[in-house]
Amino acid sequence: MRLEVRVLNPIPQHVDIAVVGAGPIGCALALALADSGRSLALLEAKEVLDSRDPRAIALSQGSRLILERLGVWSVLAERATPITSIHVSQRGAFGHTRLAAGQAGVPALGYTVEYGDLYRTLAGALPVGRAQVLTGSRVGVVRPAAGCGLLSYTQAGQERALTARLIVQAEGGQSLPATGKGKDYGASAIVCKVRTSRPHAHVAYERFTPEGPIALLPLNDDYALVWTTPANQVATRLAWDDMTFLAALQVAFGERQGRFLAAGPRVAYPLRLATAIPTPRPGLVRVGNAAQTLHPVAGQGFNLGLRDVWKLAEVIADTPLEDLGSAAFLTRYRALRRWDVGGGIAMTDLLVELFANEWALLRDARGAALTLLDAIAPAKRLFARKMMFGAQAW
Ligand SMILES: Cc1cc2nc3c(=O)[nH]c(=O)nc-3n(C[C@H](O)[C@H](O)[C@H](O)COP(=O)(O)OP(=O)(O)OC[C@H]3O[C@@H](n4cnc5c(N)ncnc54)[C@H](O)[C@@H]3O)c2cc1C
Repeated sequence: MRLEVRVLNPIPQHVDIAVVGAGPIGCALALALADSGRSLALLEAKEVLDSRDPRAIALSQGSRLILERLGVWSVLAERATPITSIHVSQRGAFGHTRLAAGQAGVPALGYTVEYGDLYRTLAGALPVGRAQVLTGSRVGVVRPAAGCGLLSYTQAGQERALTARLIVQAEGGQSLPATGKGKDYGASAIVCKVRTSRPHAHVAYERFTPEGPIALLPLNDDYALVWTTPANQVATRLAWDDMTFLAALQVAFGERQGRFLAAGPRVAYPLRLATAIPTPRPGLVRVGNAAQTLHPVAGQGFNLGLRDVWKLAEVIADTPLEDLGSAAFLTRYRALRRWDVGGGIAMTDLLVELFANEWALLRDARGAALTLLDAIAPAKRLFARKMMFGAQAW
């Protein structure tokens, strides 16, 4: 299914809320605001709301609940593979933890979907009558202000402008200012589908290696692989033929899932941590990757962005129109998101840095921590809940 360009006529000049970027997060926000009574414009640089991005996304149980409330889960569920167990271990050292859905009291810890399926489902459900969807519209200058802000965009070679009480930046991580708190991980994630000799039985793996984490996510009959690869190795690994790639992956991951039998086309994503400057600007708010771009370890980025969307929609619903984008509005939203976002950033970064260190004492301490976590059921349940529902969950 390809969604055709929808440029509405007449093109709006003023809306209550303008969302920059109709990626999965921008689309989710438009859905969440469908019944808010606020006029809404969604501006997207691409001509067509579609994606051939080959990454797979692990949706948490918490995201499933939000997607249900947005009315899209029933469609997506047909294309989602449940994850009933997650195996966490480190290569070449003792210690592992196995999280199970039953122990956490949920039917599944999460679900793996293709990014394209997730995106098409959200975009296909956009409330076109209630949201103005402007495709082929690249936003340039954004001038937020308390009361009413202005943004300019280019559409079909023409410069246009739009005023809005609130401008929501959902345009992904490219726009995140270099001045934010962040770092380059000096690595890329190579993603592709792989087949293993043992059926996946809905078990996902997070395996920490000295080079970085390797994730296997059950997807249909195969696994979606996310292989963290040092920057200087990326070109070489992408150029490998299937046999060489599979043999190297076998060495890096080990035999826990049997033999790696086949691999699909490979794509690499550079990995970085970037976050928005904490100083709020009246009339402007960032969500999803435009607010925080994380390492994909533990699959947190989209899940965190969806919780941004849900909370923002709640705050918008509770705020009188004239106060949208005011200092009080921003303070309230930021207070509601602070711990979850901060926890997500800290957790992913800590996992990457802690497990990358090959110092023997630290390696043993990690092994002991994994073993201990595995043995203490309440601790395991709490950890699973934080992975599923965010840092604020208890
Ligand atoms: C390898 C990998 C694996 C991942 N795995 C997981 C996972 O398992 N679980 C998980 O939760 N997360 C995962 N993530 C993170 C997840 O992919 C992102 O958090 C999510 O895709 C971000 O969506 P977004 O809508 O915020 O941004 P984007 O997907 O980047 O969308 C931004 C949109 O804005 C548009 N845009 C940009 N600039 C402009 C402009 N100036 N004007 C108009 N439009 C504009 C773009 O065209 C695009 O459509 C993974 C990431 C990677 C790299």
